[in-house]
Amino acid sequence: MKSHVKAVVIGGGVVGCSVLYHLARAGWTDIMLIERSELTSGSSWHAAGGFHTLNGDPNVAKLQAYTVQLYKELEEISGQSCSLHLTGGVMLADSPERMDFLRLAHAKGRYLGMDTELITPSEAKKMFPLMDEKHFVGAMWDPVEGHLDPSGTTHAYAKAAKKLGAEIVLRNPVKELTQDPDGTWNVVTEQGTVRAEHVVNCGGLWAREVGRMVGVELPVLAMEHMYLLTEPMPEVEAFNKETGREMIGVLDFKGEIYTRQERNGILLGTYEKACKPWSPVNTPWDFGHELLAPDLDRIAPSLEIGFQHFPGIANAGIKQVINGPFTFAPDGNPLVGPVQGLTNYWVACGVMAGFSQGGGVGLALSNWMVNGDPGFDVWGMDVARWGEWASLRYTNAKVRENYSRRFSIRFPNEELPAARPAQTTPLYDTMVANNAVMGDSWGLETPLWFAPEGTEPKDIVSFHRSNDFEHIGNEVRVTRDRVGVTEIANFAKYEVSGPASEDFLNRLMTNRMPKKGRIVLTPMLNEFGRLIGDFTIAKSGDDKFMIWGSSAAQKYHMRWFEQHLPKDGSVRIHRFDQTLVGLSIAGPKSQALLAKLVDEDVSSKAFRFMDFREMAVGGAPCMVNRITYTGDLGYEIWMAPAYQRLVYKAIKDAGEEFGIVDFGMRALLSMRLEKNFPTWFRELRPIYGPFEGSMERFIKLEKNDFIGREAAAKEHAEGPKLRRVSFYVDAQDADVMGDEPIWAKVGAKDFGTIEKPHGYGAPRFDETGKEVRGSDAATGASAVRGIVDGDWRVVGWVTSGGYAHYVQKSMAQGYVPAALAENEAEGLFEIEILGHRRPARINVEPPFDPSGDKMRG
Ligand SMILES: Cc1cc2nc3c(=O)[nH]c(=O)nc-3n(C[C@H](O)[C@H](O)[C@H](O)COP(=O)(O)OP(=O)(O)OC[C@H]3O[C@@H](n4cnc5c(N)ncnc54)[C@H](O)[C@@H]3O)c2cc1C
Repeated sequence: MKSHVKAVVIGGGVVGCSVLYHLARAGWTDIMLIERSELTSGSSWHAAGGFHTLNGDPNVAKLQAYTVQLYKELEEISGQSCSLHLTGGVMLADSPERMDFLRLAHAKGRYLGMDTELITPSEAKKMFPLMDEKHFVGAMWDPVEGHLDPSGTTHAYAKAAKKLGAEIVLRNPVKELTQDPDGTWNVVTEQGTVRAEHVVNCGGLWAREVGRMVGVELPVLAMEHMYLLTEPMPEVEAFNKETGREMIGVLDFKGEIYTRQERNGILLGTYEKACKPWSPVNTPWDFGHELLAPDLDRIAPSLEIGFQHFPGIANAGIKQVINGPFTFAPDGNPLVGPVQGLTNYWVACGVMAGFSQGGGVGLALSNWMVNGDPGFDVWGMDVARWGEWASLRYTNAKVRENYSRRFSIRFPNEELPAARPAQTTPLYDTMVANNAVMGDSWGLETPLWFAPEGTEPKDIVSFHRSNDFEHIGNEVRVTRDRVGVTEIANFAKYEVSGPASEDFLNRLMTNRMPKKGRIVLTPMLNEFGRLIGDFTIAKSGDDKFMIWGSSAAQKYHMRWFEQHLPKDGSVRIHRFDQTLVGLSIAGPKSQALLAKLVDEDVSSKAFRFMDFREMAVGGAPCMVNRITYTGDLGYEIWMAPAYQRLVYKAIKDAGEEFGIVDFGMRALLSMRLEKNFPTWFRELRPIYGPFEGSMERFIKLEKNDFIGREAAAKEHAEGPKLRRVSFYVDAQDADVMGDEPIWAKVGAKDFGTIEKPHGYGAPRFDETGKEVRGSDAATGASAVRGIVDGDWRVVGWVTSGGYAHYVQKSMAQGYVPAALAENEAEGLFEIEILGHRRPARINVEPPFDPSGDKMRG
């Protein structure tokens, strides 16, 4: 065993071996994997081995597609078979809602390059004769599904990594991790200590324990999972003989069941409602190649439905029941990336579908370690998406909820109840008493909308407009006509201070920093010139700035800020989290309202649009921004939590004469739509450039050498290929939710391959593992075919949208080829909502207050 290496990967499951292989392929060969026992000694050995590409997050779906494509390459390099069976599979819908869900998934596939097809139950039965089609209303066929040998695949990664020079040390538990002042890790193992620049936690079932070695409580929990194997079935053998094909994989949402052929019988697994965590606090170190006791009673309700739906299986004898544990993060997606607050401590854990996701996880993490950037939009699996509130108990409740709902429909207006409330502001009880329907915003309870007296404060979940529609409309109208107040504690807030703070921010941000007492809006880019942040920044003192940003990206942004802080202590950064909370007032009467609460001049002359000032509001020390996300005349007021109730009461009392209304997050989002304002993580994400994102007003290429400037200048010089645009949609009773395809009547006009950018600048490899350079490698764009229907083509995708209540229009934002971005013609575009193409028209100017006169006051 070497004593010094560049990186140590802890854990020899499928994920650790994939990370090792990808690091070696990217050129880091001075690396070592240390495994406690033998390879596959965690959950990898007893997996059912199924794989598929579909995922609710299109970016994760693309990384799954990469994993599936990788297996052939892996077999060739390693000489080890993965026993690939690419059978294809169907998802069966038992209800109109589930069919809507499949239509949505299928529509997304139109620009993601997925070859799915909507089929009838009888077509599905032809491929899987064991089912009874009368229970279903439709299905979706996905050709890129199948199964493999989990142990063979893990060994294939390991062999390929070894061939490239990586070392694997078996039967050697890692006991302790310490870090020297120069950042070197001491990996203390049973066989001695290895010093390494980087450590990767691929501990799988023990990822929590390997996290605790460095004082981190990772939000992962193992769940028991059961599948059963039938005796050989004559029906299966007959089908194979007749068709020359293996039976396909089947997913039955209603039964919470998945099945596939295993030898000449069937493998059937369940995600049962009565699910059970395994080792909820500590994972025993002596657990190895063993199984848990089966508990058929727990999965009996699923089996009952399954046997009705698949009578062919009901009569088969059960040969074996496998019950084994595997880990989940609270939302079921992996935890990948560097852990904020630590240096060179990486994780790749919580991977619940190692054989669908392991390759993509390995590729993204190795890019990140080698190039300083994952090269893909990996937000959906970034470990930074969880905050401190994701504790052991929170994770336990959320993982159980997620597991039991794995095959349930998640509606766009559905807030899940487990582990709530996690964080609350001092106004929580008041908001609930005011009939607020609360939502979870990065662990914080936030009002979504307010039910009028006599109406139940509860969402009716739906893909269509729902019971909140009328009430959100009222909140918007009263705010826009008079004045409204809302809680904004769920924004991220930071303070940057110190003598070099302005230089630091100028290096990170694309816009010039404001003068003292002024505010700017500014995107932030990575070295590839892609959007990694969008902030409001106020200069609050001589060497002090306040920053507001996306709540969900707090750890993601802190990690970036910390990585770029000067080492000499000349800049300090503080994240407030909930130690600073806020309220926003907006609408034409908001200025008169503020004037009643303060003892200074807040007229538009004295307190201008985009001014920042510290002042007492209702007697409480506050920071006030003369700007709001409503795009109306308005203010954001920030205070310590101890003052929030005082300020709220003062606002409500003083606002009574103006007929003030409480409005929630949904009204706020509706108002931003009619101003064409983008949102972070929907319109603005690391897959888009700043000019593609139509953010040119905030990009000052000439100011100084900020991160990403060169790439942004190139994008500007060449002209963006795509543009973010806003649409009016002739919707009926359902508005867009995001990820819908945008069609255009462009006849024979070809815009080249219409691509949804996926990666950027990351090295890509050909099938022999050789790095591919050139234009495709530079964009990393995934090959996506434009879908053609007569004169119509899919030319883009929706990022978000909804109903803009004040202007009474259904609106959407999304990306289209730049050549079409200013074409406001009628009849040129259609947006596919729940499988129906609705006419849409680009609106270059926002419909509400296009001149900005109201906003400036
Ligand atoms: C019943 C069942 C069915 C499944 N079916 C599927 C399926 O069909 N498709 C699919 O994609 N996935 C399936 N899975 C999930 C799949 O098994 C996991 O996604 C995958 O195994 C995760 O791999 P891993 O490498 O992260 O973790 P693990 O396999 O748990 O590997 C972690 C490794 O780290 C080692 N380790 C931990 N701590 C230390 C330490 N301190 N020192 C040294 N070594 C250490 C362990 O010994 C272990 O070998 C299934 C799981 C189960 C249980």
